[in-house]
Amino acid sequence: MSKAIHDLVRGVVDGSLSDDEVIHWLRAVFEGGLSEEDTIALTEAMRDSGEVLEWGSEIANLVVDKHSTGGVGDKVSIVLAPALAACGLRVPMISGRGLGHTGGTLDKLGSIPGLSVERSADEIRQQVERLGVAMVGQTDALVPADRRMYALRDVTGTLASIPLITSSIVSKKAAEGLSALILDVKFGRAAFMVERADAAELARSMVDVANGMGVSTRAVLTTMDQPLGCAVGNSLEVLESVETLCGNGPEDLEELVCVQGGLLLEATGLADGMQTGALMIHDSLQDGSALECFRKMVEAQGGDASILESDASLMRGLGLMDPDLLTTELCAGADGWVKDIDAMVIAEACLGMGAGRKELGDEIDRAVGAILEAQVGDRLEEGEPWVVLYHRDEVAPQTLEDLLGAITLSDEEVKPVSRIAEMIE
Ligand code: URA
Repeated sequence: MSKAIHDLVRGVVDGSLSDDEVIHWLRAVFEGGLSEEDTIALTEAMRDSGEVLEWGSEIANLVVDKHSTGGVGDKVSIVLAPALAACGLRVPMISGRGLGHTGGTLDKLGSIPGLSVERSADEIRQQVERLGVAMVGQTDALVPADRRMYALRDVTGTLASIPLITSSIVSKKAAEGLSALILDVKFGRAAFMVERADAAELARSMVDVANGMGVSTRAVLTTMDQPLGCAVGNSLEVLESVETLCGNGPEDLEELVCVQGGLLLEATGLADGMQTGALMIHDSLQDGSALECFRKMVEAQGGDASILESDASLMRGLGLMDPDLLTTELCAGADGWVKDIDAMVIAEACLGMGAGRKELGDEIDRAVGAILEAQVGDRLEEGEPWVVLYHRDEVAPQTLEDLLGAITLSDEEVKPVSRIAEMIE
């Protein structure tokens, strides 16, 4: 079977297979599944369909990355990648753009003036060797098989297949020449997988396949019912990422950064346990070394790093002082402890204000979004603002009504809980 899979992937890339032939095979997998052995063979063949980054023996065992299935306010990558570099790891992070209610790392980084995320495989390699970190978009040279297969899956309704998602995600990460990988697989009402059991099945498949290919991989299952951190929207999320890189981030975001970083530091032997690794990441946020790696990365990718000099220059640089930008506060209707803030409602409001793409190719407005003034467990008094919207045009009355229903207050004290539900190894 593995020779057949190899031939299939070759036919996908060299064009000797027609769309109908590829679709026939994709449908068969979508309906009948694929064994673990064949999923590994497929993922390896996809990885090898293009260029694979190679690293010198002195750093090869330090090359790591993370992948998230995406969520609302998920800016973990922007903080984690430079923090890992500050701790001695090498991170050739290749990410995607956002579509629908979840934002993409590349769109967020695009709010930094001048910053380019287009780099060839050679440029990625050189930057990572020199600075420890690059955050860029997919290149044409890496995993060309996925581009055609993903496009055909998209138009034939065969996206939602565990082996096809696994091979698509893991092949692109494996093409970075990784030694270790952490997967943040989210579940909840604003996640790609709403049910925890489905997220666990996908995580198990990706962990087994990536480990089967020699990449030391673990997954954390994390909740995505409320936005992560307080900022939603491209520029606002970069602002919160920089605050977190300065050691002043929200606790839920910092926890995910420290735990995922700790697991990678343990996997590569730079820390003797996850806890020690998490402390190393925490220290890098406190002592300025993670921020310095971020600054060097911004500069190397053509971005204006001078915006990092002060809060005012950062706000200005990110377009948040634009006089055309309007703000609207929504206030608590009663006293109480915040029990819930519906991430899906916040995301859809931001999408409606122009923060994201409804369809591929849509223009996005990087400065619009929302800042939560309260998170789960915080106490609010009646009339206190709980969210501030940043927008250009008047906010639609239906959006305001939906937002008023997005917050749930409780008369009883609410204790925030960790977003990490489970570890899969
Ligand atoms: N992301 C990918 O890159 N591929 C999939 O199939 C699903 C999500």
